[in-house]
Amino acid sequence: MDKRVNHHGFPMEILQQTPTPFYYYDLDVLRKTLDEINRLTADECCLVHYAVKANGNPHILKEIKSHGLGADLVSGGEIKAALEAGIPASMMTYSGVGKTDWEIRLGVENEIGCFNVESIPELEVINEIAGLMDKTANIAIRVNPDIDAHTHKYITTGTADNKFGICLEDLEQVITLAMKLPHVHLKGLHFHIGSQIVEMKPYEMLCDAANKLIDNYERQGINFETINMGGGLGIDYGHPDEHPLPELERFINTFKQRLNLRAGQQLHFELGRSIVGQCGTLICRVLYVKENRNKRFVIVDAGMTDLIRPALYEAHHLVHNLTSRQDEVETYDVVGPVCESTDVFAHDCRLPITRRGDLIAIRSAGAYGESMASTYNMRALPLSIFHSR
Ligand SMILES: *Cc1c(COP(=O)(O)O)cnc(C)c1O
Repeated sequence: MDKRVNHHGFPMEILQQTPTPFYYYDLDVLRKTLDEINRLTADECCLVHYAVKANGNPHILKEIKSHGLGADLVSGGEIKAALEAGIPASMMTYSGVGKTDWEIRLGVENEIGCFNVESIPELEVINEIAGLMDKTANIAIRVNPDIDAHTHKYITTGTADNKFGICLEDLEQVITLAMKLPHVHLKGLHFHIGSQIVEMKPYEMLCDAANKLIDNYERQGINFETINMGGGLGIDYGHPDEHPLPELERFINTFKQRLNLRAGQQLHFELGRSIVGQCGTLICRVLYVKENRNKRFVIVDAGMTDLIRPALYEAHHLVHNLTSRQDEVETYDVVGPVCESTDVFAHDCRLPITRRGDLIAIRSAGAYGESMASTYNMRALPLSIFHSR
C-alpha cells in the first residue's frame, strides 16, 4: 500500500494542509467513470449529457469537456458555465419548468442542441423569442410518463402529481402545436423520472412507455430524431470503496435492449449523480466531542451549509474518522455547527474513539454537495481540492 495514503486510501499529508471544511475530489475515480461512459457509448448513436446541477465546479466541467460529453442544464448560469468550459452548444440540453426570457434568449442565441419543453406557455414563449431573434429553436417535449421511480419522494419527478413535464393526456395537443409553430423545430421526446434510482424496473417501464409513443407517432408520420431518457442512475452510498463506479453498463444496456429505436434515431441520456457522486468527499475536522445524558455527539466544522443532502432528503453518507487508529469503537451522532436540528450528518454512527482535531470524511458527496452549498449563518462556502495519483 502507498505510504502516502491512510487506511482509507486518502492522501493525509495533502488533507492535513488544507483548511477545513473542504471538498476533496479524486480525479482517478471521476476519470474512470468517464472512460467507462465513453467505452459504453463509443459505437452507438448515443450521447451522454452531464447534468451540471450535480456539480458545476469548473475543474469537473473541464474533465467532462475533455471526455467529450454533452451538458444538461437547468439555468442560464449553467448554460454560461458550460459554454465557458468549452462544451459545444450543440451538445447542450436545457430543462426546467421555469425558464426566464433572458435564459431562453441565451439558449437561442447560442443555438443549443435542445430545449426540453415542459409546458404549452413555455413552448409559445420559446417560439416567440426565437422569432424575434430570427432563429429556430430545437426542442424536445418533456413527457411525464406517470412512472413511480420508487426513490425518495423529494427526488421523484415522473409521476402525474409533480410539476415536471407534460402529462400523457396533453401530449398530442402539445406535439400538434409544436409542429405548427414556425420558430421551433421538434427534435424528439424527453423523459426524466427521478434520481438515485438503483433498480432497473422503473427504467424498463419507461422504455415500454417510450416505445408506445414512438410507435404511435410514427403511425401519424412523425419520426423523432432524438429520444432522451434523462438520468437518475443511483450510486452505492453504503459502499463507496466496493462500488466506486455506478452500474453504467446495466443502465445503458437496459435502454439499448428494450427501446425500439428507429434507424438513425439518437439515444440521449442526462446523468449527474452517477458521474460525480463517488469522486467527492467532504473533509472536516472535529471541534468537540460532547456527551449528553444518553448521546455522544461528534461536532464537526462542516455543516448542512456545506452538504445539505442529509437535512434535505434524509440521505445517508458513510462517515470515516481518517485520523484515529484506535481499535475501540464508540457510537456517535455526527453533527454540524449550524443552528438547525436537522444539521446532522449521521445518527448512531460507529467510529473509533474520536477526539478534537481528528479529520472526518463524509463519503460519496461529489453530487449535490458543493453545488447546493449555501452561506446560511453567514458561513463561508467550502473550498475544493483535486487529487490524482
Ligand atoms: C437533475 C436532472 C438530471 C440528472 O439527474 P441525476 O439523478 O443526477 O442523474 C437529468 N435530467 C434532468 C432534466 C434533471 O433535472
